[in-house]
Amino acid sequence: MTEETPSSRRRFLKLAGGATAAAMFLGALPRRVWAALPHLTQANNATAKALHYVDDETQAPAPHTPGQRCDGCVHYQGKPGEAWGPCAIFPGYDVNAKGWCAGFQAKS
Ligand code: SF4
Repeated sequence: MTEETPSSRRRFLKLAGGATAAAMFLGALPRRVWAALPHLTQANNATAKALHYVDDETQAPAPHTPGQRCDGCVHYQGKPGEAWGPCAIFPGYDVNAKGWCAGFQAKS
């Protein structure tokens, strides 16, 4: 049996308090801050390849028209101003706000 000293008890309480504070801090953060999704690419998703997804809409093939980009698409779920965000068509991935794919549908 180990002997508990006031010093070891203090150290334990300090660590436990720090861990609790860290857990409370992480719990208070929006999920996206600490659990960013992998970035979508044609290499990591077959549907992205089929829909010609690109990170940069200026590189998009037809039928893309200039100005069509993910942050203007009804399927985009990222927050305004964020560079990457989720897309309803590609669960489990983040798409680039300036990206594009053939599933683009303009927000009304
Ligand atoms: S469906 Fe819309 S938001 Fe999703 S990747 Fe295609 S253009 Fe971007």
